[in-house]
Amino acid sequence: MVMGKLAIDQLRERVRGAVVAPDDAAYQEARAVNNAMIDRRPAVVVRCANAGDVVAAVDFARENALDLAVRGGGHSVPGFGTCDDGVVADLSGMRGVRVDAARRTARAEGGATWGDLNAATYAYGLATTGGIISTTGIGGLTLGGGIGYLCRGLGLSCDNLISADVVTADGRIVVASEEENPDLFWALRGGGGNFGAVTSFEYRLSPVKDIYGGPMLFELDDAATVLRSFADYIADAPEQLGGFPAFQLAPPLPFIPADRHGDPFALIVGCWAGPVDEGEKALQAFHDFAPVVAEHVGPMPYPALNSAFDALVPPGLQHYWKANFVTELSDSAIEAHLVHGPKLPAVNSTVHIYPINGACHRVGPQDTAFAYRDASFATVIAGMWPDPADNEANIAWVRDYYEATAPHSEEGGYINFMAEDDQSRIRANYKGNYDRLAEVKRTYDPDNLFHLNQNIQPAA
Ligand code: FAD
Repeated sequence: MVMGKLAIDQLRERVRGAVVAPDDAAYQEARAVNNAMIDRRPAVVVRCANAGDVVAAVDFARENALDLAVRGGGHSVPGFGTCDDGVVADLSGMRGVRVDAARRTARAEGGATWGDLNAATYAYGLATTGGIISTTGIGGLTLGGGIGYLCRGLGLSCDNLISADVVTADGRIVVASEEENPDLFWALRGGGGNFGAVTSFEYRLSPVKDIYGGPMLFELDDAATVLRSFADYIADAPEQLGGFPAFQLAPPLPFIPADRHGDPFALIVGCWAGPVDEGEKALQAFHDFAPVVAEHVGPMPYPALNSAFDALVPPGLQHYWKANFVTELSDSAIEAHLVHGPKLPAVNSTVHIYPINGACHRVGPQDTAFAYRDASFATVIAGMWPDPADNEANIAWVRDYYEATAPHSEEGGYINFMAEDDQSRIRANYKGNYDRLAEVKRTYDPDNLFHLNQNIQPAA
């Protein structure tokens, strides 16, 4: 449906931020999301300045029977932050963060990134679990669960959510917390963007300032030992120890010998969030797994580790990802990793095997929408590459890798690491929580206005 100029002009009168239509100079930039494979042309992008603008965008979509995409950080691999012919409520200009040091809480606007949040909380020596890349939005990441360096000690990002201000499908602004609209609050913690547009997230913070960590590279010949040893060690390692094993082509960085740039390696990225002077000892276990070829490990501000790999994933890459949960990283699963991990087709691509035990397991499977509380690891096979001409080869690598690991994995995977063609796995991802999510969806969004996400259908 093509929107008339009159309707767009009326929308402009309702909105404090910018309303960008196809004829506007800013349109090409406004319609783009992080994944360059996504090429969609919305009827209008509302660059929201405040919650009122979000209400205007939601109302406009509903009143005109248009598709509605809600964009936070824009990192969704399936490109859920944009759409064809519909309305984009773009919250990426809403990035304010306010820290209450006495209460150890932070309130962040719905379009903030982890870089925004971490910079603000670092000043107080506080942090919460966030993603490993600073440019990812807190919005999509928290609503889908939220896995990162600090989750073994602090739980998932959604476990640290205290409340959220939500614009619902009927254009109301409601608070979701344990006390107010607790059903909505339950669903927001893992249920993704299905239930409304969150204009503000309130998080619980914990004392984390400088950490000790960074990447260590191991030869592929040692990859089996590294994966087996990591899985065994992390099962009951101190919870301040975070990080993950990975496969990666060596980027051209000074700490890696020049003649090894471009070679595939097994990695561990470590993050000790306990006392910094105990960090070297805490990471010694990883050193003991096998000889380290190159490393860039030491004390650093937590936000520095959070942005250490940003340059490897600039905006504008092609993305195709798949995901698994595993309760045990079995030897058969490791064998599959050893076959496919070393075949990484691009330096931006990576495979991360995130431990999600510790504090993540102390939240019950029905306590929040995030159901896989018995999974020890969340694996992401993240295909990322610059040239669209390489799409076929890179997508094939991700799919082959996934097919090989799937028989050794749980049925579900982490929704935030999934591609658009994984919608058939959504029910499995929520296990026994799906029906309750569908009930909450019926209450808050019976007509499925918020459907551009890993979609939960409203209960009949
Ligand atoms: P968007 O594309 O803006 O949104 C994604 C989804 O969330 C959409 O459905 C959107 O409608 C919804 N949404 C976003 N903001 C809001 C809001 N304010 N209110 C309501 N709905 C909203 N995940 C991890 O858990 N840990 C990681 O370390 C991690 N690293 C990543 C690194 C990169 C480079 C990328 C591309 C992704 C990474 N992810 C990670 C996955 C990430 O969690 C998802 O891509 C997530 O959806 C991104 O959120 P966003 O706000 O940036 O994306």
